Amino acid sequence: MRRGRLLARLRDLSVGRKLLAGFGVAASLLVAVLAVDRASVVGLSASARWITDEAVPKAQAADDVRSAAGRLRATQNAYLLGAGDARPDFEAAAKDFETALGLLQRRSSSPTEVALASKITSGYQTYLSIDQLIWEALQAGNTDKAVQLALGAESLGYESLITDAEMFSSLAQREQAAAATNFRSQAARSRRAGMAIGGITLSLVLAMSVFIARAIRDPLARLEEAAQRAASGDLAGRVDVGSADETGRLAEVFNTMLDNLRRREALLAAEARRQDFDAELHRALEMADDEESVLRAVERAVIALDPGVPAELLLADSSKAHLTAAAAVGPDGVGPGCPVESPWGCIAVRNGRTMTFSSSDKIDACPKLRDRPGGPCSAVCVPVSFMGRAIGVLHATGPDKQPPAAATAEGLGTVGSQAGTRLGMIRSFERTQVQASTDGLTGLLNRRSFETRVRAMHRGGVPFALVMADLDHFKRLNDTFGHDAGDKALRVFAQTVRDCTRPDDVASRYGGEEFLIAFSGADAAAGAEAAERLRRALATNVATGGTPVFTASFGVADSGHSPALDAIVRAADAALYEAKHQGRDRIVVSGATPEGEVMPRLAVVPGGLGFDAHHDDPLE
Ligand code: GH3
Ligand code: MG
Ligand code: MG
Repeated sequence: MRRGRLLARLRDLSVGRKLLAGFGVAASLLVAVLAVDRASVVGLSASARWITDEAVPKAQAADDVRSAAGRLRATQNAYLLGAGDARPDFEAAAKDFETALGLLQRRSSSPTEVALASKITSGYQTYLSIDQLIWEALQAGNTDKAVQLALGAESLGYESLITDAEMFSSLAQREQAAAATNFRSQAARSRRAGMAIGGITLSLVLAMSVFIARAIRDPLARLEEAAQRAASGDLAGRVDVGSADETGRLAEVFNTMLDNLRRREALLAAEARRQDFDAELHRALEMADDEESVLRAVERAVIALDPGVPAELLLADSSKAHLTAAAAVGPDGVGPGCPVESPWGCIAVRNGRTMTFSSSDKIDACPKLRDRPGGPCSAVCVPVSFMGRAIGVLHATGPDKQPPAAATAEGLGTVGSQAGTRLGMIRSFERTQVQASTDGLTGLLNRRSFETRVRAMHRGGVPFALVMADLDHFKRLNDTFGHDAGDKALRVFAQTVRDCTRPDDVASRYGGEEFLIAFSGADAAAGAEAAERLRRALATNVATGGTPVFTASFGVADSGHSPALDAIVRAADAALYEAKHQGRDRIVVSGATPEGEVMPRLAVVPGGLGFDAHHDDPLE
């Protein structure tokens, strides 16, 4: 446990401190090894010194005593044989012996040596006393006694001296040999200890180096591996180097960097998804060329955003007073069913911004969310507008307290905004189309679009009867009742035309108070009948329309007249001219007679201006 903590603390040291600790431990071990070595060298040199300073000189001194004893005996024998002549040599030898003995006494250290030295000393004393007796016997001329003494007691004394000196010498030599042996074994021990300590130290330094190198290298390797993974695009992992040193701090910074990169990547991915969705929706709406297609595209887009979210697009009607669900998605294709009735009743439309409600039970929830059949819910409401004018609202709901996800709400905002733009464009395009092709006063086609469509009919081989109508005495109606009354009369006539035509027929205000109607599939006779129906219907409408009484004249030609529309129009115009000529309020068919066939004329319309349109036209 403590070892684990120690290793962890070591790992947490900075790289510099790790190296310092490693070198410090290595240096300390080296110092310890040197100290131990020095101690053993000191011990060995002390032993060696003792051998050279003590053991060898002691053995030497013992030898010196022995050889001095030999010389003592030899010089004694010499002066004995020479009857005293060589006595001074004996005395010199005695001096040498005493010097050697003195040295031996000083070298003696153990009790045995001291005892031996003193025994040699006392033996020497005895030897000298006997020598004195020999000398005195020799001087007294008693050579025999001297020889006897020399061969007897003195010889014994000498033997004893030599024996003691040899004993001392062999003791000293044994001691020297023991010291040498001891020195050798001490040296061998020192060598072994040195090698062991050196080996242990080397192993420790190596282990320490390996540990420190790994403590530095392993985290770096893990960091490098993580960096390579990140470089190849894998930002998912985190690197844990397991230390708090520089590499550990670098790894923390690296992890923070990875977190930031992951966040940015997620944001970029979400942004890319959003852009893809925007572009896809844009393309879908671009291809939608009518409102119905836009509504279906909106439904598909909402399903693509979140298939489970019930949503509906409520659009204002032309009066802008009512909202109705124009598109809906949800379970079984049923939308959330918002009960809002008018744009003004919708808070999102009123505020002109997306509103999110987390729960219909909250006090600030939209009242339109309360008491729904499905119970409490959450909702997102996106106003749909075009050029700043609200045209509806995109409404989606979710489970209570779980409003649609932020990405879904954002996507709904995009759908609302793009759908609004597209719907607005389609509507204004249709308006422009209608304006370009219709007459503003009557709502009928204008001359140009009439000609385009009828020419197409003619080209397509569809037969038709062309009826040209012109209001009778219209100038005077204007002059008498005013221009507004004239306009109203024009509108009444146009409405009558609409009432009397079928979807395949083409009706137009051809100019001023002239109208051209192509009755599809009709020949001139059928056209004349249609014109008669028109004339009668006009009489009825005029009676109830609140305008001054007026009539119209009609000229009829059919498509069989000519392959050229202009020629047919001219023929109908000629027939109309004839109808005017014949008294107005009648129908003339082109080509039936040189003047045109005159259709039977209707009775005067009662009421109105109160004149007989047949003969007594008050405006005439
Ligand atoms: P006729 O029975 O022979 O057709 O007599 P008319 O008066 O109808 O014929 P004319 O061509 O002389 O007069 C046509 C009048 O129609 C002239 C013009 O003031 C009137 N008019 C043309 N366009 C409009 C319009 O848009 N509104 C009104 N109020 N009057 C128009
Ligand atoms: Mg006219
Ligand atoms: Mg006219």
